[in-house]
Amino acid sequence: MEDRLTSQVEHVWTNVLERLEGRIESTALETIVRRLQPVLLTDREIKLFAPNRLSLTYVTENLLAVLRDCVAEIVGNRQVVVDVSPEGQGELFPKDDARPQKAIWPGRLNPRYTFDSFIVGSSNQFAHAASKAVASRPGRHYNPLFVYGGVGLGKTHLVNAIAFEVLRLNPGAAVAYLSSEEFTTELISSIRRERMEDFKSRFRAVDVLIVDDVQFMAGRDRTQEEFFHTFNVLHSAGRQIVLTSDVTPHEIRGLEERLRNRFEWGLIADVQAPDLETRAAIVERKAELDGIPLDHDAAMLLAGHVVSNVRELEGMLTRLGAQASLAGRRVSAELVEESLVRLPVSRGSGVNVERITSVVCEHFAVEPTDLHSRRRSRHVALPRQVAMYLCRVHLGTSYPRIGELFERDHSTAIHAISTTEARLRRDPSFQEAVAQIERTLGVRP
Ligand code: ADP
Ligand code: MG
Repeated sequence: MEDRLTSQVEHVWTNVLERLEGRIESTALETIVRRLQPVLLTDREIKLFAPNRLSLTYVTENLLAVLRDCVAEIVGNRQVVVDVSPEGQGELFPKDDARPQKAIWPGRLNPRYTFDSFIVGSSNQFAHAASKAVASRPGRHYNPLFVYGGVGLGKTHLVNAIAFEVLRLNPGAAVAYLSSEEFTTELISSIRRERMEDFKSRFRAVDVLIVDDVQFMAGRDRTQEEFFHTFNVLHSAGRQIVLTSDVTPHEIRGLEERLRNRFEWGLIADVQAPDLETRAAIVERKAELDGIPLDHDAAMLLAGHVVSNVRELEGMLTRLGAQASLAGRRVSAELVEESLVRLPVSRGSGVNVERITSVVCEHFAVEPTDLHSRRRSRHVALPRQVAMYLCRVHLGTSYPRIGELFERDHSTAIHAISTTEARLRRDPSFQEAVAQIERTLGVRP
């Protein structure tokens, strides 16, 4: 009886896997779904075991509906129940002795972020090519690979893609992906539990170590110390290291010299804000992946509206997609125009450089002439950066042009804007100050 049930659930599961092909992204299918283990089929439910919590979370958040549909097509309606397998209980990532099984750390890879779903344009071509090279032969090409660029421009996407590609080419590889904050958290908890040896051996056993947003290590001595040693061990063993940051190693303030030096050993690649065509292609690809019916001219309109941040662009597409589906319409140019009218940020809003300058100056109590001068003092540096940032975000002004306006070169403009973005992410009172200015400008409700 037991046997018959087992084989039946396996049979149904094989059938489900076949049906999933083409219905979900192939990476999700290969790296997540194929690792689920079918355990039980009754007339009410089908039960699956996930190897770890990462997998469980991903399946429950993204795949339950499609799994239910496939099962229904084969054996009729069943509840799909997913649980962590008994061996995987309490395991965020596999044990050391589980090598050569892959170790994803602590398991935040996003299966949607693959090379397949990444649109290449002149803004990211170099970083993309370097990432591909690294993924195809980890440790052989550029070590470390250091990817930097402003917020929402695809750094996390690219390095996730590296992880998936490495695992696709070599499922036994031990790939660790984590943010520098997670590295710190792991470190602190290991120190507290007096498990430093574990910490060291765990990190030092990986084939590919990917640390996202290393700028946040700045100023944290113990983190930098430990990361320095980890880096050295991995690097000298020929293991691949991939890092991202919002600015170049040189520009990370509070980063120890010896780390900065190592970050510059390999290849430094930037991602820039995508141009109009690339943005349109990104929206179209995303619409395709999400099943949102989107007209080409609607994609162009959207891409023309949101200029600097891909995440924002995606947010807008999602909202439009929801709106369209409620109204039973496609996302057409007409629909985009209708909703752009209601959006706070619009090029036709009467905002210009003069107005940005005057509102910013008023807020920070400085003179407009200071903003456009070469003065370097701190009390004008911040307002100047904010003004540059606002020109970029709300007017779509190019970096060279922003440089010109504020008597700086274009790399200073890039730096000013990414510094502002980084600060916005970690400093709530600064966020509020900028929001205040945006409200005065009428670009925020
Ligand atoms: P960053 O880490 O640089 O802040 P992310 O990698 O999180 O940015 O990207 C933000 C969003 O934009 C993600 O949903 C990502 O998939 C998308 N995105 C950015 N660049 C591209 C691209 N070139 N092709 C497809 N999607 C992109
Ligand atoms: Mg990121």
